[in-house]
Amino acid sequence: MPKHYDRVMEIYREISDLYAALALMGWDQETYMPPKGAASRGRQLATLSGMAHERITSDEMRGALDGARSESLTADEEVNVREISRFSDRAVKIPVGLVKDLAETSSAAIGVWIKARQEDDFPAFAPWVDKLVALQREVAEAVGYEDEPYDALLDEYEPYASTKETAAVFDSIRGPLVDLVQRIADSGVKPRTDFLERNYPVDDQRRMGVMAAERMGFDFEAGRLDISPHPFCTHMGVNDVRMTTRYSETLPMQSFYGVIHEAGHGLYEQGHDPENEGTPRGASVSLGIHESQSRMWENMVGRSRAFWQHFFPEFSAIFPENSADVSEEEVYAAVNEVKPSLIRVEADEITYNLHILLRFEIERGLFTDEYAAGDLSAVWNENMKAFLGIEPPDDRDGVLQDIHWSHGSFGYFPTYTLGNLYAAQFYRAAEREIPDLSERIARGELLPLRDWLRDRIHRPGMTYRAGELVQHVTGEVLSADYFLAYVHDKYSSLYSL
Ligand code: MG
Repeated sequence: MPKHYDRVMEIYREISDLYAALALMGWDQETYMPPKGAASRGRQLATLSGMAHERITSDEMRGALDGARSESLTADEEVNVREISRFSDRAVKIPVGLVKDLAETSSAAIGVWIKARQEDDFPAFAPWVDKLVALQREVAEAVGYEDEPYDALLDEYEPYASTKETAAVFDSIRGPLVDLVQRIADSGVKPRTDFLERNYPVDDQRRMGVMAAERMGFDFEAGRLDISPHPFCTHMGVNDVRMTTRYSETLPMQSFYGVIHEAGHGLYEQGHDPENEGTPRGASVSLGIHESQSRMWENMVGRSRAFWQHFFPEFSAIFPENSADVSEEEVYAAVNEVKPSLIRVEADEITYNLHILLRFEIERGLFTDEYAAGDLSAVWNENMKAFLGIEPPDDRDGVLQDIHWSHGSFGYFPTYTLGNLYAAQFYRAAEREIPDLSERIARGELLPLRDWLRDRIHRPGMTYRAGELVQHVTGEVLSADYFLAYVHDKYSSLYSL
């Protein structure tokens, strides 16, 4: 009998319940909490995360993990021990004082960032970036790394990934994407988008988003859709998955694709094995794999011609006046407009990756001492020009646009593009294995894809590390070729290249 293993899991389930409570309080903070609740909520979150940290680093947990490693375990049990050991090792290595310093510095930095952004004053924020980089460098030294400190930071979001390999994959897409964006600009083709600027009542937008999520197989008996300024998806368990979106009457596609994206995340959470709920075996692999699920639904499915064959009549029925002079083909072209823009979160599926590559290079450079924070505005603007051919008129819409660095979150950005690359490679495998996938999508049948994803990606939980999962599902290691082929095929036809 694996006695130590059982004790590990007992403690871990409590930790997992603490995380569920943290997730629920965090969800509430972004959705329904009255503004004056902020101060006490901050304290409550800190208390609970302190308790989780204490348990995962406790002598009892460390002893039980040591014992469990020499017990005879099933394959599933080994996954749990491997991953809980990884969480515990990382937590033990980072001194409590450093965790506190980081929390305090980033909470001050967020305020400085908000003001600096309002006043377009990057020099006011730059010293805080340097401070946070210095603290994260201490984290990296404490945790340890293979080649460069950035490895240890990336590892928090994309476990087992290496900076060097990520950089190599990113290098292989930069040239082709810059070139594709240029050829699209030179094509002279400009999709009609005027009809998307009309007035779309929020209630109807909600109806359309919910319909798409239901069609995807998102279970509203085991999940919700609410409103928050920054859309996200969180979960308290396989049967309690909360997603949010935001509505603007003149941006119907923002909420529509927002819901499809978050429902893609939501399906991953609803698709875990219920028997392993609250354990690594029943949890998602990495942020990159998570993002592959949202991006696949949003872009490869939701922005496909097949999808609009089915959804155009639904769209017309919900918005008869706005769509009276519009064709299915025009909607399809409009939702796939490619246009270099300043703001990452508004970017199309091609240029989005160039925004990420730019941030990845800067982050890596901050940790190899190639850059100091004071250089970032200039580096940012130069790279925007080189990658996208446009230059921000100010730092507000340039280097100050994202909240991530004020949180001290370095290593998070690359997971977005990794998600796009994983998504394209997974989707290619789905096309091989699901008969008539695109014909079925054109008939509004989205469940065959949901079921395939559930079987191949959601149910295994953390059984495979991200790189292994890609190999297991697709038969090959991660390659950018699938994403490049996907965008090349799709946009050659859209822009007559
Ligand atoms: Mg996402």
